Amino acid sequence: MTLRDLPAVGKLLAHPRLAGVDAATVREAVAAERSRRLAGLAPADEGAIVAAVLALAAPRLRRVVNATGVVLNTNLGRAPLHADVLAHVAAVSGGYSNLEFDLDTGKRGSRHAHVEALLTRITGAESAIVVNNCAAAVLLLADTFARGREVVVSRGQLIEIGGSFRLPEVLEASGARLVEVGTTNRTYLRDYERALRPETGLLLLSHTSNYRIVGFTAEVDRTDLAALGRAHGVVTAEDLGSGLLVDLTRFGLPPEPTVQASLAAGVDVVAVSGDKLLGGPQAGILLGKRDMIARLKANPLMRALRPDKLALAALEGALRPYLRPDTLEAAVPIMGMLARTPDALQAAAGRLADRLGARVIPGASTVGGGTFPGVELPTFLVAVEAPFGDLASVDKLAAALRASDPPVIGRVADGRFLLDPRTLLDGDEDLSVAAFQALP
Ligand SMILES: *Cc1c(COP(=O)(O)O)cnc(C)c1O
Repeated sequence: MTLRDLPAVGKLLAHPRLAGVDAATVREAVAAERSRRLAGLAPADEGAIVAAVLALAAPRLRRVVNATGVVLNTNLGRAPLHADVLAHVAAVSGGYSNLEFDLDTGKRGSRHAHVEALLTRITGAESAIVVNNCAAAVLLLADTFARGREVVVSRGQLIEIGGSFRLPEVLEASGARLVEVGTTNRTYLRDYERALRPETGLLLLSHTSNYRIVGFTAEVDRTDLAALGRAHGVVTAEDLGSGLLVDLTRFGLPPEPTVQASLAAGVDVVAVSGDKLLGGPQAGILLGKRDMIARLKANPLMRALRPDKLALAALEGALRPYLRPDTLEAAVPIMGMLARTPDALQAAAGRLADRLGARVIPGASTVGGGTFPGVELPTFLVAVEAPFGDLASVDKLAAALRASDPPVIGRVADGRFLLDPRTLLDGDEDLSVAAFQALP
């Protein structure tokens, strides 16, 4: 078998299964096959080359079935959006919109006004502004209030969030000088007080959302820190990250600070993520006092950090259910997942297990996304043992399911492939069964 047998690009382009595929993609697949043959690998036949072209031609970003039981799986795109939210995105983005056009006056409007009205109505904040993500929100805070000056943070709150967000590095990237106070486990109000100097621009609290410091600990109450800031004319802010707008203890989760609680404590500005517990698109939301938010809005960095119409439409759609908290479970997919009862999960696991010929075992789901560290939500898992069909090991089984269309992503533990029904969306059970049926 030689390079001469390589199928010609022109011939492949005429292949009935490759109708509509462009020549560059076909050339890339043929070049890859040439390299394989030059490397001495067994030549692929025409069918395999056509399959390789189709794989190259398919979109790279794909939907997957999340059977991991991690509700806010950052690797899998965090919060899934409700169909109503997507319909709003399609309506606003598929055509022209009033993104920056005031329909009352016929003049230029602000892209920020649309969701700001919703955010203030939901949270009671005086004012709000949306940026690209919560990391951008922290950058904007530090740049606006502490560039060339100092931002004071407790040593117990110098967080790193997965995906390379390190609070100290973001703060320093803004041109603010970081002043660390207290110790890893204990920080007192007097530590902040002692750090106050004419150069102090910002007192920043950050929510240690992805770890816990337990034992001999002390943290400063946000009410006290806010009072200290007010007394000295220094802005206070809190990076809450998780983005909680409602109390989730009714789902059996431990208490977590909400945006409203932080604002009620007197903190000037609160920053949260749009795609964590809020259940919306990637966004960073800054809420708080009117004059502080006005300064954030006026920062030239806003032009670089502003969200686009897709994100704003998705955020507007995702926020609207919060006006009716009783509808959240139906209107915000992650809330529905968090609300699923062990009984409902056991029934769903039983159904799926029957169809797969697998067993049901008790287990735990997690919230994920750097929220609720160490908290486990009771669930029931479908446990598939290897060997399965021709797949000798559980790793081979997991790899084959990742290669399904759509890919099915589960958990591998103790030599078993586990599917958690908590994170399956409508239709995912059938897709999972189909993926198993198509396995070799
Ligand atoms: C997640 C998180 C961030 C980063 O949020 P992104 O929206 O992912 O940029 C920042 N701070 C805290 C406390 C977080 O939990």
